[in-house]
Formats: sequence, structure tokens, C-alpha cells
Amino acid sequence: MRQSNLLIPTLKENPNDAEIKSHQLLVRAGFMRQIASGLYSFLPLGNRVLRKVEQIVREEMDEAGASEMLMPALQPSELWKESGRWETFGPELMRINDRHEREFALGATHEEVITSIIRDELKSYKKLPLTVYQIQSKFRDEKRPRFGLLRGREFLMKDAYSFHESFESLDETYEKLFNAYKNIFSRCGLDFRAVIADSGAMGGKDTHEFMVLSEVGEDVIAYSDTSDYAANIEMAPVITTYETSDEKLKELQKVETPNQKTMEEVADYLGHSLDQGIKALMFKVDEQLVLVITRGDHEVNDVKLKNLYDASFVDLASEEETRQAMNAGFGSLGPVGVPEDIDIVADHAVQSLVNVSCGANEDGYHYMNVTPDRDFKVSQYADLRFIQEGDPSPDGNGKIKFARGIEVGHVFKLGRYYSEKMNATYLDQNGKANSFIMGCYGIGVSRTLAAIVEQHHDDNGITWPAQVAPYHVHLLALNVKKNEQLELAEEIYESLKKAGIEVLFDDRQERAGVKFADSDLMGIPLRITVGKRAAEGYVEVKYRDSGEQEDVQQTEIINTVR
Ligand code: ATP
Ligand code: MG
Ligand code: MG
Ligand code: MG
Repeated sequence: MRQSNLLIPTLKENPNDAEIKSHQLLVRAGFMRQIASGLYSFLPLGNRVLRKVEQIVREEMDEAGASEMLMPALQPSELWKESGRWETFGPELMRINDRHEREFALGATHEEVITSIIRDELKSYKKLPLTVYQIQSKFRDEKRPRFGLLRGREFLMKDAYSFHESFESLDETYEKLFNAYKNIFSRCGLDFRAVIADSGAMGGKDTHEFMVLSEVGEDVIAYSDTSDYAANIEMAPVITTYETSDEKLKELQKVETPNQKTMEEVADYLGHSLDQGIKALMFKVDEQLVLVITRGDHEVNDVKLKNLYDASFVDLASEEETRQAMNAGFGSLGPVGVPEDIDIVADHAVQSLVNVSCGANEDGYHYMNVTPDRDFKVSQYADLRFIQEGDPSPDGNGKIKFARGIEVGHVFKLGRYYSEKMNATYLDQNGKANSFIMGCYGIGVSRTLAAIVEQHHDDNGITWPAQVAPYHVHLLALNVKKNEQLELAEEIYESLKKAGIEVLFDDRQERAGVKFADSDLMGIPLRITVGKRAAEGYVEVKYRDSGEQEDVQQTEIINTVR
């Protein structure tokens, strides 16, 4: 492509509002422009990189057995009302009315749409498991759109959804996609970690995030210096729930509470035993952990637990009181409300916690899903908010370190959360109707692009990894007024194109200084400069990343580039 034909509006200065490198450089190098807060146009170079990242995602998803489809961004409110998220998603969901005053949402995510399609179209277990995905713009009215592409209000996402008969089948697909994600982010040239995550507002349980290590990341990761263990320290709210006759209960009883007592001892102290069907929940509210005990006389429990924990104490016996307390800064227990016989002890250092089954959105709105649909696992992770650098890692290997991360991907095991709410069933082998078991898997494609720039730049501009670079070769004719330079450059341009090499040809009538500066800014991996030695048939080849350079004979160019 000839640069004289391309819209690449480079800038000398950083835009005022750009605080971080990826935002500054992508604007300065002419890859994108903002049209309103959190809304960006991808100019030709930006579009090329976006398409490359997208293509990597597509190839790895296809390889993992997922098939691509495309759903509408505009979604009828009825579906969101079925799942309950028309209420719980909050102000982040962009809502609009059509001319008949019917309500719609701009897709923030597509669980509802895909669940309704599968509900209508997939009736038999024979078609399971099934994984589909799409790559499409998503809309979220973020409270603070910022950092350029990292937190936009319209952004490109790859979202995938899987449907299963059994949890074993879900586990298999989850692992397959987990590995596909590793391939995707490796191919994008990223230094990343897969971390144990919070289930956010999705109602899921088993979930991991893929974090690109970066100082500008909004998440904090605790990781082991010797093992693969890593977790988002925002995991809380964490909820622990278990029931009678669960095999895992025995392990749970050994879980230690802050005063070094096991849960079993606490239950004994309260005058009942854990295997009598007591249900205990732990979750985070504000900076404190809350222990919920759903059996026994809560007035007696109140006093006893207060003595035991010497902790601040909130009694949330009635739903009305719950609401008030939650409104006063405790978040909110949404869809399930709080059963009447619950005691809550606000407590501040519970150590090992169990599975996650609740969520919170960015406004601090907490909710629980305590309708367990499978065995609860005892996870090894501790409550990381109280972990300090140097502490032993919860997996028993190595010591804890902290790093900041950018969440570029997120995988969830949803279970039957949506299928039950939306009544999506298939017929099993015996002709019995069952709710689908589901998983969902997201990648922020445009955020990934920005994350790449965060990890690949220097003082002069971007240094794209070859796999995602807008072009592979930047060919500069330094002085187009000199015939021997222009002619040689034209010749090389044709031969590179013929060899199938992606080349951007700077054929502009600009000063050499401008061409070099723009070229560094854009960050194409290999630069070929046709300058003073053109008459001898020599050009300069320079690697953007390492800065290495050499003079190369015209006849050797294709070999050098390959
Ligand atoms: P965050 O915690 O950063 O708000 P999220 O957990 O709300 O992200 P998910 O619902 O998990 O996001 O969506 C899947 C992926 O979409 C995320 O992992 C992230 O890469 C991307 N993403 C989410 N919100 C945005 C946004 N506002 N701008 C760009 N990418 C986003
Ligand atoms: Mg979010
Ligand atoms: Mg998140
Ligand atoms: Mg997420």
C-alpha cells in the first residue's frame, strides 16, 4: 500500500486526555481517533491490527472446535427480563426505545440471545456439546471510560458460549478453550497470566481471567514466585456454601476461621453440628468478610458469635433490614434476598474460602446465587485481600508476589444459571427434559490490541510483534525527488508485493526526518530505507525492535525480509 493514499494522521504531541502509552501512541501514530468519550474510530492502520488480532482469535477458536456466528447487537428487553438482568445489570446496560416505545438493550454480552436461540433450535442431547462464538462490538455505559481502548463504551469482543449435558463435558470444553486462550495471547506476543477470578455479575462459579502484566492494569494479581498459582485479589466477594451430606463438607469443617477455630468448632460452639444441615456462607461486604449461618436461634448465635469473634456485628434477620443495611454501604443481596433465619457476622480475616457463587458489579451491588446445582469444591485459595507480599502461596508452593494486570480474557462455568432462568431445555437419552449446562468465554479484542502496545513500545513509538503488525515491511523512499531513489524504491515495492510480503511504501513528498519519525512511531517491524546508496543498488534494512541495521544489496532484499 502506498502511504500517499492512506489516512495516517500522525501527531507530534500527545493528545491531552491520553494518560497511558497505548492511548497516546495509538492516537499519535494515526491508528485511531476518539469520536466521544469511550468511542473510537479505527483508522486504516488500526483496523489492520484489529483484524489481525481478530484473525488469531478466530483461528484458535475454530481449532478448539467452536464455530463462528453473528448475533444482533440490538436485543429485545424481554430476553433480559427473563434472565433477571434487565434489573441487575444496572446502568452499564445501554437501553433504547424503538418508535413503538418497545425497549431494547445494546448488547453488553449475549448470554440471553444465545440461550434463546439454543432453547428454540437445539432439542436433543445428540447435538451436545456445542460451542459457538462471535466477534462483534459490545456496548457498556462504563462509569469511567478511560485509557483509550482499555475501557471503552463500544469495544470489540469475542464472546463464546458452550452447551452441555454434563459438568464433565463442560470441564472438557473449558479446558480446551483455556488452552486456546493461552495460544491466542502467546501469538499476540503478550506476557500474561491466567488467574483465578471473581464471577462478576455473571452468576458463575469456576472462572479464570487472563491478565496481561502491566503497570497500568486496573486489577491486582497475587501470584506464586515458583508455581502457576495466580489469583485476582478482587476475587471477593467470596461465598462459601455447603450442605448436608456433601462429601466436601468434611474438608470444609477443617477450614480455619480468623481465631484459629475450624468451622466445625465454631458450629459446635453455637450448639449444633455442621452435618445437621447447617448452611454457612461467607462473602465480602465492603472491606469485611461476612459469615452467614442459617441454622439455629439467631439471637443466641448473635451473642455467642460476638463473643467468639470480638467483631463488629450486623443482624440482617429481615429482608427490609437487609435492604437498609445494604443501601447504607453493604452492597445488596439481590435476586435471592436473605432467608429469615440468617445471622451475619462481619468478620475480618477468614482464611481459606470455598467456591464462588455470587457477584458484584462496579457500583458495589452484591448479589448471591445460593441455589447450588453441583458439588461445591473446596478451593485452595485464601482470602487474598489479607495476603501480603512474601506470604506463603495458598497452593503451598513458593511465596506470594503482586503485579498489576489488564484483563484481556475471561472464562466462566455458568452451570444452569441462564438455562434455568430462561427455561432452556433439551431431551436426554431417556426423553426427559433437562436444563442445559453452559459456559461462556470472552476476549476483549480491542483491549488486547491496546495491551500489546503497553508491552511493546519504546521512547520513539510502537514496536509491533510481527504477528499483529499492520504491515511487515515499511519501505521508505527518502527523497522522492531523486530519480534513482524513487525508481529503486518502486522496483523493491513491486518485488515485495509479488513475494506476498505486506509492505507499506512511504512514497510521500516529505523530509527524511519526518519519514523516520513517523516510521518509528508506527512501529512496523522491518524498515527498508532507499537513500544515498540507491545508485549502487544498496538499501538500509533496520529492525524496529532491536534497532539492528545493515546495508543490503537490492538482490538480497527478499531473502533478508523472509
Ligand atoms: P472489567 O473488569 O475490565 O470491567 P469485565 O469483567 O466487566 O471487564 P467481561 O464481562 O469479563 O468484562 O467481558 C469479557 C472481556 O471484554 C473482558 O475480559 C475484557 O477484555 C473486555 N472488556 C470488558 N469491558 C471492556 C471495556 N469497557 N472496554 C474494552 N474491553 C472490555
Ligand atoms: Mg466491567
Ligand atoms: Mg473484570
Ligand atoms: Mg471479566
